Amino acid sequence: MTGLVRSWVESANAPEGPFPLNNLPCGVFSTADTVPRCGVAIGDFVLDVAGLEEKGLLPLTGGPLLDVPFWNDLMEAGPEVWAALRARLTALLAEGATDRAAVTAFLVPLADATLHMPFLVSEYTDFYAGRHHAFNVGTMFRGPENALPPNWLHIPIGYNGRASSVVVSGTDIRRPWGQIKGPDDAAPRFAPSARFDIELELGAVVGQPSEGPVTVAEADAMIFGYVLLNDWSARDIQAWEYQPLGPFQSKATATTISPWIVMKAALEPFRTPTPPREKPLLPHLAEPGPMLYDIALEVGMTPEGGTETVISRTNYAEMYYSAAQQLAHHTTSGCAMNVGDLLGSGTISGPEKGNRGSLLELSWGGKEPFEIAGGSRSFIQDNDTLVLRGECRGEGYTIGFGDCVGKVIPALADPYAR
Ligand code: CA
Repeated sequence: MTGLVRSWVESANAPEGPFPLNNLPCGVFSTADTVPRCGVAIGDFVLDVAGLEEKGLLPLTGGPLLDVPFWNDLMEAGPEVWAALRARLTALLAEGATDRAAVTAFLVPLADATLHMPFLVSEYTDFYAGRHHAFNVGTMFRGPENALPPNWLHIPIGYNGRASSVVVSGTDIRRPWGQIKGPDDAAPRFAPSARFDIELELGAVVGQPSEGPVTVAEADAMIFGYVLLNDWSARDIQAWEYQPLGPFQSKATATTISPWIVMKAALEPFRTPTPPREKPLLPHLAEPGPMLYDIALEVGMTPEGGTETVISRTNYAEMYYSAAQQLAHHTTSGCAMNVGDLLGSGTISGPEKGNRGSLLELSWGGKEPFEIAGGSRSFIQDNDTLVLRGECRGEGYTIGFGDCVGKVIPALADPYAR
């Protein structure tokens, strides 16, 4: 494992800091003086790479690629350009670099930056590929004998979500209304969701298009990077609507992503294989090398005016299927993939109670409320703030993702009031 790559930006050398020179995550920012533009986080700053490119300090094949407020054009340019971007930024920011004055002019304090969606989401697919999550939820609904559906160990189960639901960290989430029918209700009713929940996930950002089926190795090469992803879920709406075609309105309120895309290159030292197969996979889904990552994850919950409680700690390495396997499976039908496709991993839970990535699991369907500072919870209450965090711990450095935050604000009094 490589150690810290030192930078002349001193705050980038802090061992616990999220944005060392090893990371260089891609975001979109604005300040009081600028419209949204592409930037890369380094230490306590965001480097205005759009400005650097405009000034001729960041020549990229096929450029300009960063003169738009999203990273799709850069992604589309392909893996050689992704590598060239990292190499050039590393040269500009490394300890001993000569052109510091010119680069310093493009450093903006992160504290002065507002962060926006880092890319245009072309389409969004969500999977159900965490073994512990699928087992927990299946046990609640069907009992431990039939917890996993018969297909689960053979394909990464997914559904086509809504790109329009994806919002950037910091966006308030309005509690949704929907059609709800509990097991003891005689008839359905239309009401605000009372069982509103999170799902702790990692999102893979597809940076290259495909037309026909791709292998797992080809799929891995198509992935530009990863974000944290919270798939907000209305469990009471979901329970009534999901059979036989899967979740629909229960998942369409919002999906929050962290503001920085951590490039796959920054995660290379942290690759780890998927867990042993319980049943052999068909050859086209077999993993040719380690394609998960050792990313420590946690969820914090804060009531209005209160203090945060960490309610879950787990790791992306718990997934049964990697994003590359999911992407390969996605293309088996001939389904075309586009630059800016977003793939949700599925809820990431670990084996123990404290590792569960949704409140549904943490409170075991609402039967076992859990304690937080200032009260207890089964599901999200109004004005609760939820934060997902993720980091890779290297030798002398940390790769951070930036917080993925959302506050749940009260439902409208009447969604059809005109
Ligand atoms: Ca999900």
